Amino acid sequence: ARAKTSTDGVVYYSALIDNELQELAARERELKEAVYNGELKIFLQPICNSYSEVVGAEALLRWVKKDGSVVPPMDFIRVIEENGMIITVGEEVLRQVCEFILDNDTSIGFIDVNVSPVQLRYPNMADRFIDIISAHKIDPRKIVIEFTENILIEMNQIVKDNIEKLLNFGCQLCIDDFGTGYSSLSYLTLLPLNKIKIDRSFVSRIPEDSRSVKLLEAIFNIARSFNLDAIPEGVENEKQLEVLSMIGYRLFQDYYFGKPMPVEDFAKILRERSKFTKS
Ligand code: C2E
Ligand code: MG
Ligand code: MG
Ligand code: MG
Repeated sequence: ARAKTSTDGVVYYSALIDNELQELAARERELKEAVYNGELKIFLQPICNSYSEVVGAEALLRWVKKDGSVVPPMDFIRVIEENGMIITVGEEVLRQVCEFILDNDTSIGFIDVNVSPVQLRYPNMADRFIDIISAHKIDPRKIVIEFTENILIEMNQIVKDNIEKLLNFGCQLCIDDFGTGYSSLSYLTLLPLNKIKIDRSFVSRIPEDSRSVKLLEAIFNIARSFNLDAIPEGVENEKQLEVLSMIGYRLFQDYYFGKPMPVEDFAKILRERSKFTKS
């Protein structure tokens, strides 16, 4: 294609950029419509204890198109972070989480909600979140705000205020993808965290890689010292589960225990499990 425009590279180049911008604009329009039409929905992935009992869940965003196809967050989160739509979308995620808790209050311990750095840097973020949780009259301790370590590198005053307000209101805090960011561990002494999630990349290397086993032991000990729940992500087989259990891990979130699923399916699992344990 480049050969066709060999006489005028500049025109070709700007046409290319133009094309990309048009594609991005089309994508943004599509996403705006998707939000408007309620096509952005949370899926819930179970978090289980060693007895495979569901104790909580993580809310994971999906774009469920009219034709039934499901678009993963990696394909659109970046776009909505860059154009600011993540603020509205993030509030919608929390609303859907609150509605789910309202409908299934007694059978669900907590739901983890991912928040992007863009949200935490938005001055009204915590106030808006508190309004939404209050409006649903649910226990704020059931809402776990989950973010990655990288936000803590540039902890400006807005981020600090948002985190403090959410904490004072009663929400819990979780560090996602623990150990993969560029942050120092000093935040452990500064933030009253409730839990950490250990990135899949560590878990996937066990049991073969003995250094990863040692690292998972060290992380477990840190978590225990700081009184944090530690949740490994991405357990894929019995052997991995065995090694993690031997280290001391008691909570798990992965395909082995259950994939992220539509809220109706998750509610059904909760109902069936509670029926089972009662009888
Ligand atoms: P994350 O918060 O670290 O979520 C865990 C991801 O690992 C999810 O991918 C989940 O489906 C996947 N996962 C869990 N167990 C397994 C396993 O055993 N094997 C494999 N291969 N994967 C597993 P997902 O749903 O595609 O989400 C990707 C990322 O998108 C999330 O990573 C999170 O950073 C972001 N995200 C998702 N929902 C939201 C949201 O509502 N708001 C924001 N800001 N970000 C979100
Ligand atoms: Mg997460
Ligand atoms: Mg993670
Ligand atoms: Mg992540």
